[in-house]
Amino acid sequence: MEKTTLLYEGKAKKVYRTTDDNLLISQFTDSLTAFDGKKKHNELGKGALNNKISSHLFELLNNKGVQTHFVQNIDDNHMLHKNCEVILLEVIVRNIATGSLTKNLGIKDGTVLPFALVEFDYKNDELGDPKLNDQHALILNLVENKNELDILRTKARQINDILKPFFLNIGLKLVDFKLEFGKDKQGNIILIDELSPDNCRFWDTNTGESLDKDRFRQGIGGVKVAYEEVLKRILG
Ligand code: 5GP
Repeated sequence: MEKTTLLYEGKAKKVYRTTDDNLLISQFTDSLTAFDGKKKHNELGKGALNNKISSHLFELLNNKGVQTHFVQNIDDNHMLHKNCEVILLEVIVRNIATGSLTKNLGIKDGTVLPFALVEFDYKNDELGDPKLNDQHALILNLVENKNELDILRTKARQINDILKPFFLNIGLKLVDFKLEFGKDKQGNIILIDELSPDNCRFWDTNTGESLDKDRFRQGIGGVKVAYEEVLKRILG
């Protein structure tokens, strides 16, 4: 399958049409951004690492009965996936308090939450991805009805229930992550986008070290080495 015209260019991915209207190709780029794109850097090889990590995790979820847009890995930087209508919500799942939760609510960094917290952010760069409640999402017509929000929450928890023990088993705490969903041609709500250290936080269970994009956000360095370590552990 060959890519044809560029459909959409995101901060870390370019999405292309293919000769089949049901399928798209995402190119994972080496671009790293943070703080709504205000901080930027190119990390050679990052795109290929995220493509491999995402492909593996999508396959894992597909095998556990969670539908994703993943079809196949094409080469180092390219993934073939279903063409879905994107739902403009970022579904955030949190197991441990850090990042914006700590900043916004004053919960001590590192606090283990009593249950997985699911939040919705409006996927809108100009507005800085603001937090939404159900009523905001309905007023903005981001979903058709309340039931779709419940489906998103249920799917997000189901994904967390699979990924959290998977990562714990390879010495990583799945602190939090951002999911995106879309509707396939049959109208099913399925997982899209990516699952990588760009949109997940991983803390090493022994050292507490961050092995994710926080290394870039906080200027700690060693981003590529950390992403390589995540891939190495995933592949066993
Ligand atoms: P926070 O709200 O604490 O900044 O982020 C929570 C989790 O969601 C983190 O794992 C973070 O990587 C992910 N996340 C939140 N918003 C975005 C976003 O706009 N882009 C990406 N790549 N990840 C996000």
